Amino acid sequence: MRLRTTSSAIRFTLAISALAICGVVLAQREYNSGKVWQEPKVVEPASAGSPPADAIVLFDGKDMSAWKDADDWKVEDGAVTVNPRGKPYAESKQSFGDCQLHVECAEPEVARGSGQGRGNSGVFLMSRYEVQVLDSYNNKTYFDGQCGAIYKQYPPLVNVSRKPGEWQTYDIIFEAPKFDFSGKLTKPAYITVLQNGILVQNHVEILGSTAYDKPPAYEPHPDKAPLQLQNHGNPVKFRNIWIRELTPITFKMDEKSSQATTQQ
Ligand code: MG
Repeated sequence: MRLRTTSSAIRFTLAISALAICGVVLAQREYNSGKVWQEPKVVEPASAGSPPADAIVLFDGKDMSAWKDADDWKVEDGAVTVNPRGKPYAESKQSFGDCQLHVECAEPEVARGSGQGRGNSGVFLMSRYEVQVLDSYNNKTYFDGQCGAIYKQYPPLVNVSRKPGEWQTYDIIFEAPKFDFSGKLTKPAYITVLQNGILVQNHVEILGSTAYDKPPAYEPHPDKAPLQLQNHGNPVKFRNIWIRELTPITFKMDEKSSQATTQQ
């Protein structure tokens, strides 16, 4: 009687173990979304000081031929200097929407002026949305107007400005706003900014055009618009400007693969 009980117990334990193993195997079955993704392109990344292979180079240190209204900006030693007596903006000849943008700039080595009057320039996405460029090294101003700010909308998360004369990097990821056929905003713009490799704007929602004298507001505009570099009367230098247009990676649905997994 005792023997029979032990034998039943062993069989029961074995059965439970087998079920458990099956359960583990079932649980480990690979999930498949059914999405057959487009293969990510191979892109040669940037080495220090040079653009990645698929970038559109807007300034390579030699000339400003990719820009309008910058003929009188001085190109020298691989950099271009804003002409304080020139037009208010240098404007890219090509238009852009969603993009990854790299810009390097240096504030005037001899710091003159204070607040907004010291080393002021700016990178305007779509000719409307300014990432502030300013000498913010030991130079106080309103926080949403200091270097790395989205002008009058968001201060930078931290002040990582280098000394006047030192080169600084800006890496910007920008999502353009969307408007419907009637001009109504359907999706605001978003922006992420790294200054000198440090996050200063973390995917913030842009509230509209950035202006000195009025609140931000959206006005409908095309899907793409030129990039601008601001002349605010200070001889700020730029170099190594490149941009990558961003297009979402695509997929096709593989219904069979998707259903097979769903039925588990
Ligand atoms: Mg500015």
